[in-house]
Amino acid sequence: MYRLRDAGYQAFLVGGGVRDLLLGREPKDFDIATDAHPEDVRRLFRNCRLIGRRFRLAHVYFGRDIVEVATFRSSEDELAPDDESLLLKDEEGRILRDNRYGEIGDDVWRRDFTANSLYYNIADFSIWDYTGGVEDIRAGVLRLIGEPEARYREDPVRLLRAVRFAAKLGFRIDSASEAPVRDLGFLLESVPPARLFDEVLKLFLGGHAVASYELLRHYGHFGHLFPAVDAMLDSEAGEPYRALLLEALQNTDRRVADDEPVTPVFLFCVLLWGPVRRRATYLEERGESPVQAMLLAADEAGDEQQRHVAIPRRITTPMKEMMVMQLRLQKTRGRRVLGMLGHPRFRAAYDLLCLRARIGDADPALAEFWTRLQALDEDARLAEVDPGGRRKSGGKGAPDGGARTDGEAGTDGEAAADADRPARSRRRRRPRRRKPAGSAD
Ligand code: ATP
Ligand code: MG
Repeated sequence: MYRLRDAGYQAFLVGGGVRDLLLGREPKDFDIATDAHPEDVRRLFRNCRLIGRRFRLAHVYFGRDIVEVATFRSSEDELAPDDESLLLKDEEGRILRDNRYGEIGDDVWRRDFTANSLYYNIADFSIWDYTGGVEDIRAGVLRLIGEPEARYREDPVRLLRAVRFAAKLGFRIDSASEAPVRDLGFLLESVPPARLFDEVLKLFLGGHAVASYELLRHYGHFGHLFPAVDAMLDSEAGEPYRALLLEALQNTDRRVADDEPVTPVFLFCVLLWGPVRRRATYLEERGESPVQAMLLAADEAGDEQQRHVAIPRRITTPMKEMMVMQLRLQKTRGRRVLGMLGHPRFRAAYDLLCLRARIGDADPALAEFWTRLQALDEDARLAEVDPGGRRKSGGKGAPDGGARTDGEAGTDGEAAADADRPARSRRRRRPRRRKPAGSAD
């Protein structure tokens, strides 16, 4: 902002940064509004990239952070030029492109909510409030600027932004802004799926997934983003999957709050798990092998989903692996079982298995097995998966009473492992665990 100002431009902090600071929250990122055109910004900052066709913006890089620098937009009522490179709308009123520049007094009316329309001026440390945003923030109200229905039609993503900010800030959506929300959900179908993917990540990985999800379901938007999942959740068989999803989203929120990493792979896996599982069962009943059925079902669900929320391949590929691993995790005998522990997708697949076990979608004993296995050392693991296995040492065994030291592990690992369980004859096979109910299908 100071560099822009020193070059003779106006520069304001705007949007979420001002809003969150007023609320005493830590801003997620900083957005700058200026009268400098994108090309001017690029001239001033070496570490700058111009992005966007719909809205041309400058991204200025500071280490790992990106500061979004937007040129003041002119407002709707300004003479609308025929030049489509400046302004382009579709027949629904959706703005496809708008690169008409203006002044701060125009720009403010183009913003979405009053709470997002405050400008912080570094010249005198004042906040410029054209819309009553300060008052709305104080009252915890999310109010769309202008005529709500027209604003949603201009950019249907604002429907999702309303939900996201209501969930994140705990704000109430003002009644006039809320009234058309439910009926306009269909507009989301015309938003490019790639943009919806970005928005879905913000909704579900921003630390307020449960609240966002509940509002999306409440307003009927969830069905426009994830139709197959929505139908599944509403169906009679949907109960366990509603529970699974809710638990997963609670975990996600907890992880974000604890500053632990969260992954979109896990998110989309739990979202799509219900429909995939049901479809895989159907395909299996028609003669496909379990793995093939799971792969086909995951492919179909992924393809169908792309028309709404475009999930990139870097996410769907590991997601499918996680799903297929649910089958492989049913095997608990044999040395190859141990190989699963080193699989790059093991941890996520195991987490999903635990969730499934909790809601009755998998055998709890199976989840316990994998929990126990991870806690054991290498020798004990081998004994666990291969209790009657052939012994390299000829079965003389390690001395009873824990004479084994860590140094011995690996030289006579299997025998040493058995020394940990002296009561059981090494030869006797453990009774085979019953096939977990409901996990074979
Ligand atoms: P966050 O905390 O998620 O960053 P934010 O309010 O800063 O919230 P951004 O997506 O970073 O949201 O956008 C910055 C600002 O740009 C918003 O505060 C708003 O003023 C404006 N804006 C962003 N998206 C839209 C939109 N779709 N329609 C109108 N104004 C928008
Ligand atoms: Mg922001």
